[in-house]
Amino acid sequence: MRKESIVKKQMLQYITTILICVLILGGILSVVYTQHYMKEKRNELIQQGRKISIAFTNAYRTGNLSNLSYELQVLEEYMGAGILMVNADGVVVLASPGLDEMMIGQSFAFQDLVEGVKEGNIVSSERKATTIFDVPTLVVGYPLSVGKMAGIFMCRSMPEMEQSLYQMYQVGVASIFVVFLFAILFSYLTSRKMTRPIKEMNDAAKVIASGNFEHRVEITSNDEFGELAKSFNHMAESLQNNDKTRRDFIANVSHDLRSPLTSMQGFLTAMLDGTVPLEKQEKYLHIVLEETLRLSRLTEGIVDLSRAESSKIILDESDFDLNEQIRANINLLEPQLNEKNAVIKAIFADQITMVHGDIDKISRVIQNLLSNAVKFSPTGGLIEVETTKTDRKKVLVSIKDHGIGISPEDQKYIFDRFYKADRTRNQDMQGSGIGLAIVREFLQAHNEGITVKSTKGEGSTFVFSLKMSEE
Ligand code: ADP
Repeated sequence: MRKESIVKKQMLQYITTILICVLILGGILSVVYTQHYMKEKRNELIQQGRKISIAFTNAYRTGNLSNLSYELQVLEEYMGAGILMVNADGVVVLASPGLDEMMIGQSFAFQDLVEGVKEGNIVSSERKATTIFDVPTLVVGYPLSVGKMAGIFMCRSMPEMEQSLYQMYQVGVASIFVVFLFAILFSYLTSRKMTRPIKEMNDAAKVIASGNFEHRVEITSNDEFGELAKSFNHMAESLQNNDKTRRDFIANVSHDLRSPLTSMQGFLTAMLDGTVPLEKQEKYLHIVLEETLRLSRLTEGIVDLSRAESSKIILDESDFDLNEQIRANINLLEPQLNEKNAVIKAIFADQITMVHGDIDKISRVIQNLLSNAVKFSPTGGLIEVETTKTDRKKVLVSIKDHGIGISPEDQKYIFDRFYKADRTRNQDMQGSGIGLAIVREFLQAHNEGITVKSTKGEGSTFVFSLKMSEE
């Protein structure tokens, strides 16, 4: 597909908009201006008509009519209009030199206008080209109230008037053209300025796609593009973190898989070649069994997580007693509790707390949280499990330990897959960092959430919610 540039598209939009505006505005202005111009010209002729009528009246009264023809000639040249005098019978009695002399003594061609001036009105009309005027003409008549005269008619050629209008239009069109050139330049510059951040982000995306996750875009504005740049950088940071987690995971998983395999290999070889005496073989076989169980737990966890992350969790929901599940999971942890000499104390909101959800998944959530609590508790530590009901038809389950605690920085990431806090001092070198990620995914599948409150060195409290059953 041919690449289309946004700059070009935007410019085209700007220019089309400007062009449409200019055309509409130009159209309206030219109509209004033409009307105004014609009105002005008509008024000018009326004014002149009034002057001639005064001059004629004075000349008539003083009997000094000889100069009139000369005056008409001067006026004709000054105004660019032919002047006629018509008597009450509609006959032309005087015509300025620019007009056809043959008209004098003839009946005036526009008798309708003669009737108008005879009634004392100022008349005006645009006439098409006829035998007397070979071009369209504006005729303005002014009444005369002296002797047997009807009025004075001034005739001005329309094409001549339009000529001066066209000249003005030419200036207008030229200035519009200049404005238009500026508009094109301006729209090019603004389009380029607006699309520059997009181009930068596109370049950055290519760099990131090539595997350089450290690359960021510069945030230069405070507008939507600035927001986009921020989100983009945020996304790049997430990708960088994901990439790091993935690398860490490969390192962890290969370590986690390799170490039990190596030890199992060692024990089995020793048993086969007779290094381990027969009576001790049972003990080592138990260790091998433990290791295989750990391996299967790890692979199970990874499978669960990948299923959860591809949104393939299918819930088998029912109503069940939460207290019973908590008790069952505490019992399962007895070996670890005995080993650590730790105690779990449970406080239930009710004797029976019926909740709605997938019993197996919720049980896994409780199991993961409880085993973490035991794992990170000191010897002889106390773990408190408590359920409380809220008025929003929810049950809150809190699991509190007095163990090593989690730093605020680590709290942000512990629910991410394969994240293990404080790696160097972590007592749990065997953990894979997927337990809490599974917990969160399982709860999210139920539309429920989990929070953590923890102080480094003092302990941690995990609280998650469940839906109470309807009855
Ligand atoms: P794992 O399967 O290795 O236990 P989790 O996802 O369950 O991984 O936990 C992730 C990390 O969160 C652990 O490595 C640990 O550092 C921290 N963590 C989880 N629970 C607790 C707790 N109760 N006290 C202190 N740290 C905890």
